[in-house]
Amino acid sequence: MSNRLETLCAEKGLKMTGQRRILCRVLAESDDHPDIMEIHRRSLEEDPKISVATVYRTMKLFEDVGVVQRHEFGDGRARYEELEETHHDHLIDLTSGKVIEFVNDEIERLQHEIAEKLGYKIQFHRLELYGVPLSEAEKRADADKYAGADKEQAKA
Ligand SMILES: [Zn+2]
Repeated sequence: MSNRLETLCAEKGLKMTGQRRILCRVLAESDDHPDIMEIHRRSLEEDPKISVATVYRTMKLFEDVGVVQRHEFGDGRARYEELEETHHDHLIDLTSGKVIEFVNDEIERLQHEIAEKLGYKIQFHRLELYGVPLSEAEKRADADKYAGADKEQAKA
């Protein structure tokens, strides 16, 4: 059975070897943003003979033909994800390295507005937020703040 990524690779004219298929599958099944070592670790479960060099070369190839997106989230490690049809942005937890995906219509709209004012049409963009988790006290303070903001808006 072939997945979307495999089909895309074939469309781009890549010869699909067994190991490339495995790497497509690993990426398609990853909903996080694994680095080379993690992709390698996951692919070993399907083929113990896949080398780190193969993973590295294949990711480079996938990136070059535009089926995979490479990210660098500030820790010097390249991480990969399948290039999706729908756009999303990332929030990176600096304490755990966890990557959270989000979409915000207001941010998307603002970006187009800014570009337009500068005389441009956006072709693509990348937005990365870097943060640490709120403490419990900060969470409570924020909840109060937003509750207050709602009340003010209601008054106006
Ligand atoms: Zn992502």
